[in-house]
Amino acid sequence: MRVKVFQDILEANDRLAEMNRKTLAKHGVVAANLIGAPGCGKTTLLERTLVMLLERANLRPGVIEGDLETSRDAERIAACGVPAVQINTQGGCHLDAAMIQAVLGDLALDGIDVLFIENVGNLVCPADYNLGESFKVALVSVTEGDDKPAKYPVIFRRAEAAIITKMDLIEHTDFSVDMALRYMRAANPNLKSFALSAKTGHGMETWVEWLEKKVRDQGAK
Ligand code: MG
Repeated sequence: MRVKVFQDILEANDRLAEMNRKTLAKHGVVAANLIGAPGCGKTTLLERTLVMLLERANLRPGVIEGDLETSRDAERIAACGVPAVQINTQGGCHLDAAMIQAVLGDLALDGIDVLFIENVGNLVCPADYNLGESFKVALVSVTEGDDKPAKYPVIFRRAEAAIITKMDLIEHTDFSVDMALRYMRAANPNLKSFALSAKTGHGMETWVEWLEKKVRDQGAK
């Protein structure tokens, strides 16, 4: 019976996600749902990405920042000078479509081309909850171990892109990029992958170029 109840919850969430998708499409917004474990570098990647997007001036970004309790990440994002709203899940382990629906009206969507949704730090629960995003991006840092994609394949299966973060630290770890990529491809042969350091900026250009092309291809504005 538990399984049935969970399915009902997910189906109800999917219906709301579809409404969000239509709202975003109406305003020509492409939304990326960023998913990764706590401390994998989601906010740092986002900060660096926002700075680069603002410099390049091809896309106008916006952010929905998910957090368990605090507004620390939202403050970091707001400091980048982009429209941002925050969702506190009050301890909940993932964002859901209803939470996104509740804040979409707080953003001037016509002025946004790409909307980043930083999910709650968690590799498991966020994979099940569609938000109405255009695509999911899974993050794994070199300090977490290269077997993460083998142990948590679902998010890599459902993601369109995966990013190996904190490459500046790789020499201090046993992380093998080849192994991580092999596990990712086993989960999802079509996964687009990036290895970068948001701290040094190395590899960021490739990611941002892919993102710009993706948004141009999908966005309606
Ligand atoms: Mg964060």
